[in-house]
This record gives sequence, C-alpha cells and structure tokens, in this order.
Amino acid sequence: MSPVHHQPDRRSPLVFEMHELARQAGTMKQVTTTVPAPADLGNEVIGVPQDSDIELDLRFEAVTEGVLVTGTATVQLRGQCARCLDDIEDEESFDVQELYFYPGREIEDDEAQIVEEMIDLDEALRDAVVLELPFTPLCEEDCLGLCPQCGFNRNDDPDHTHEQQIDPRWSKLSGLTGDTQD
Ligand SMILES: [Zn+2]
Ligand SMILES: [Zn+2]
Repeated sequence: MSPVHHQPDRRSPLVFEMHELARQAGTMKQVTTTVPAPADLGNEVIGVPQDSDIELDLRFEAVTEGVLVTGTATVQLRGQCARCLDDIEDEESFDVQELYFYPGREIEDDEAQIVEEMIDLDEALRDAVVLELPFTPLCEEDCLGLCPQCGFNRNDDPDHTHEQQIDPRWSKLSGLTGDTQD
C-alpha cells in the first residue's frame, strides 16, 4: 500500500496544478509568480514575515520519475542583528530544487510526491529558505556590536571608548603600561 500523504490544499498559493504537464519527459513549464509568505518561514532570530511577497521563478520539468522543480524564491527577511540588536531588513534569493515523484511509488520521508496532479511547494520552500538562514544574523559582516560597558552601538561611532573604567584588579598594572587613550 502506498503511504498516506496529506492532501494538498488547492487554495494554497504554494500548490501548483500539474494538469498541463503531460507525463512526457522533457515537457516543461515556466512559472513566475508572487505569492504571500506562509507562517513560520524562519527561525527564532530571522525569518520571512507572514504574507510578505515571495517572488517565485520556477521551472517545472517532467522527467522520467516525476516533475523536477528548480528555480529561485526571493523573499523579504526580517530579523535582529546578533551583535548590535539592530533590525535587519533584507531581500534574498534562495535556490529551490525538488523532485516530485509520480504517484504509485514508495517514497522516503524526505522525498516529495505529486498528489492528485498537484505539487505542494511548502516543504521545498521551507527547506530552501529556513535551512539556509543564519542563527546569528548580522546587519553587516563587520558589525562592531554593542559596547560591553554601556551598550552603545559601536557602529555609530567606531572610536567609542571609555576612560577611567578599568577593573580595580588591573588598576595597578595600568599604571605600568601607561596605555591610556585620548
Ligand atoms: Zn549589527
Ligand atoms: Zn560604551
């Protein structure tokens, strides 16, 4: 018996009908569309806001075993810099690639299948985007972060320093080095 697959929701913008794609290797269809982002497309620190625009540029290609979907998903990213805690607003493109097997074949857990002539892109989109997102996102590669003493955003003034804030345990040593700034 074939495993039970959850029924794709025909109303979902991430579900594509495959009627036109004859089961003939080589047949292909190009789809360029904008869809609203599904919920929870991200991790705890950065992600795609629900209902924001996702631009899909996809190619559906009939191959021997099924339909191969390749292309890109361009998404809006919102998050918080792990160093300076500033908001991150970015747009990024992710490569999407998934082979949807024709029904009537046992598939593994991590494989996808065409169900009732429909391809549900939700899982493939999550794999493409969420797995690629950083767990320590940065506003800039060389973000200077916050001053550990006062919390000042050092990106606003890279020369930010404190005078006379030396740990008492080191005050004797500081007299030896004479290393005072400004
Ligand atoms: Zn930052
Ligand atoms: Zn400071």
